[in-house]
Amino acid sequence: MPGEILVVRAAHVLPVGTPPVRDGAVAIEDHRIVAVGPAAMVQATVSERVSAGRVGGSPTLRDLGSVALLPGLVNSHTHLELSWLSGRVPPASTLPAWVRTLLAARRAAGGDDAAAVGPALRSAREAGTVAVGDIGNGTSAYASLTEAVFDAVAFYEIIGFAPENPDRLVDAAVAEIEALPSSPTVRPALAAHAPYSVHPDTLRRLGRERQERGRRPMSVHLGESGEEGEFLASGTGAWRALLGELGTWNPSWKAPATTPAAYLEALGFLGPGVLAVHGVHLGDGDLERLARLDVTLVTCPRSNLWTGVGAPPIDRFYASGVKVAVGTDSLASNTDLSVFAELETLRRLSRDVPASRLIESATLRGAEALGLGAELGSIAPGRRAALVAVDVPPSTVDVEEYLVGGIPPDRIRWVTSPESWRLDRPC
Ligand SMILES: [Zn+2]
Repeated sequence: MPGEILVVRAAHVLPVGTPPVRDGAVAIEDHRIVAVGPAAMVQATVSERVSAGRVGGSPTLRDLGSVALLPGLVNSHTHLELSWLSGRVPPASTLPAWVRTLLAARRAAGGDDAAAVGPALRSAREAGTVAVGDIGNGTSAYASLTEAVFDAVAFYEIIGFAPENPDRLVDAAVAEIEALPSSPTVRPALAAHAPYSVHPDTLRRLGRERQERGRRPMSVHLGESGEEGEFLASGTGAWRALLGELGTWNPSWKAPATTPAAYLEALGFLGPGVLAVHGVHLGDGDLERLARLDVTLVTCPRSNLWTGVGAPPIDRFYASGVKVAVGTDSLASNTDLSVFAELETLRRLSRDVPASRLIESATLRGAEALGLGAELGSIAPGRRAALVAVDVPPSTVDVEEYLVGGIPPDRIRWVTSPESWRLDRPC
């Protein structure tokens, strides 16, 4: 039976991947995009469908006026289970110092309070986010994610530099994610914490899980701090000291005397489907390595400034050819989960990168990295109509620059109710 069609008209439409359209429109049928482009062209396409009897009833037209329509944003890296730590782990001058405070707070509390996850997700939704890549050391956020109207990859993170049996550690993680109740919106996946906190045999095994069993995507924190480079080069420094303090140092481990990405490549961990998060301290050789191996680099600039690792070299990231996505990291190292706020910081930190590429990172690149590129991340026929409308002053000339200038939630609204997409989907 033919469905009903909704035509949404806006002063600016940003399909992503192609230039913005002035006086544009998007035609939506059954929560899917059927046409996008100049308003006159979209209306002509819809008229053809009506006269061919492919649409039931007359189309509904909504003119949103001076707004920019764009796909919902993708937050490719966060830790929802840490939401309860909002405001409790102050900015630090080094990452090991920040981690010490974080570990002490978690230890003192005796666990994570999952009650903070729901409100964090609601605020992310209000800030225009449609999908998240979420890291958990457990599965406490999983239920909240499946109840929320989010698409998500729930990464189960493996950590342990001296596990009794690296293989059994991975087996246990696999069993844990396979036992989770299935969800039409949330996909469980595996992650390794970082090269300095995970045993090389575990990293090797995870690489095999990715290549041989197709467990994609897979995530890892990589090149976040300068101390990581020192640890891998010589086995010394603040990470070595912290492993000793925690009683997890492995005396048989020998420093590989190489760089972070070269180390993970040698272990077979890196490749298509991997999200390497941060990369602040990766040299050009490592960035080119990630590009060659088809890894997506997820940048979280506000978190980097908070944890004291320094500003990420945004211009070098893009110049290297690596695919770049955007994350907020957790509320333990950020004030909110707004990807628009992250874009504002990216713009401030990059001189050369066009706004269109920053927006592409916060939408399509993130969706692709999470395996959702056929559904989300761009406005194109067949994609889900998960669209946000951002109020834009009528005098705006460069709408892309405007959108990376900092957009607060009160200027954002969803074009159709996110709940409606969910109702529509098979379990
Ligand atoms: Zn993280």
